[in-house]
Amino acid sequence: MTNFTALQAAPDTHGKFTAQVVQRDVADLPAGELLIRVRYSSLNYKDALSASGQRAVSKHYPHTPGIDAAGVVEHSSAAEFAEGDEVIVTGYDLGMNTAGGFGQYIRVPASWAIKRPQGLSLRESMILGTAGLTAALCVDKLERAGVQPQDGPVLVTGATGGVGSIAVLLLSTLGYQVSAATGKAQQADMLTRLGASQVVPRLELQSGTERPLLREQWNAAVDTVGGDILFNVLKATRYGGSVACCGLTAGVEFQASVLPFILRGVNLLGVDSVELPLVVKASMWDKLSLQWKLPNLQALASEVGLEELPAAIERILQGEQVGRVLVRLD
Ligand code: NDP
Repeated sequence: MTNFTALQAAPDTHGKFTAQVVQRDVADLPAGELLIRVRYSSLNYKDALSASGQRAVSKHYPHTPGIDAAGVVEHSSAAEFAEGDEVIVTGYDLGMNTAGGFGQYIRVPASWAIKRPQGLSLRESMILGTAGLTAALCVDKLERAGVQPQDGPVLVTGATGGVGSIAVLLLSTLGYQVSAATGKAQQADMLTRLGASQVVPRLELQSGTERPLLREQWNAAVDTVGGDILFNVLKATRYGGSVACCGLTAGVEFQASVLPFILRGVNLLGVDSVELPLVVKASMWDKLSLQWKLPNLQALASEVGLEELPAAIERILQGEQVGRVLVRLD
């Protein structure tokens, strides 16, 4: 019997969800080829939804969220992994209906894990986490659609959030001129430090929904918020430009018209980092460890232990998150 510490979300007698640090037993983890001692996890918006009882994310409680985990293989029944291997697991069912990275141990199928690339520490991999992977996938998709730094500015919405802040840093590191849209005027300096050359108040992207098209401003965009902001972003994208869409903090639905597509040839590109084939995830992690290795990653992250995680979950639900939250599993 091996006990371990984990954050567990469950409804109280009034149906309100709370998260508490509890002791669990490794024997109670689901079946899987890899038993992993988690060293770091990270907080993503989806974890906050899972911790607060959103059944579209997690159906069964009590439950340990955490869609990201980086740690050391303690037992493997899969030929491709050995005891002591350092691995990264993100997405698939981890933290959704499989006990996740907010616990010191996870047990998962070998088909969910990649070996840590040499150029990234476990800690760095979780400062990036699903947010970093998603930001990289957005930029990759834009570039595959032909977007290049010399073609003009790229807008990032939800710019102070996890995906947004890494997208700003990655794009500026790659030489793009970045416009950062945010609801947090007080974080303008932080966005400038990450490399944004323009800070756009979120309000500006919330007006004009009634107009069929808007003045062409950006050559491309990474949209992490969805809703009517996405509609306006499409309407303000330059002729032939592309928009990568990955998030929903402003809403899952958006009004749309065909005009940006048929009059300006704008491309709307969907991005998913969860069910993506492992081989594509692995290639993106390799890229983030080499040619897309980001400088000064540490400056993006605050660090919490499990005890401090419920307060961080509350902040992300309120849209107050700035940068990334690294979770330490001592
Ligand atoms: P964060 O909470 O860290 O960032 C979201 C940001 O969105 C906030 O910081 C805020 O930035 C902005 N925001 C918050 N509320 C609103 C609102 N009501 N209207 C407009 N903007 C708002 O979340 P993550 O970075 O972890 O995730 C961002 C989104 O991407 C989420 O919807 C998440 O579910 C999605 N996602 C999707 C993935 C995929 O595979 N497709 C993978 C990972 C995440 P600011 O104040 O700067 O505007």
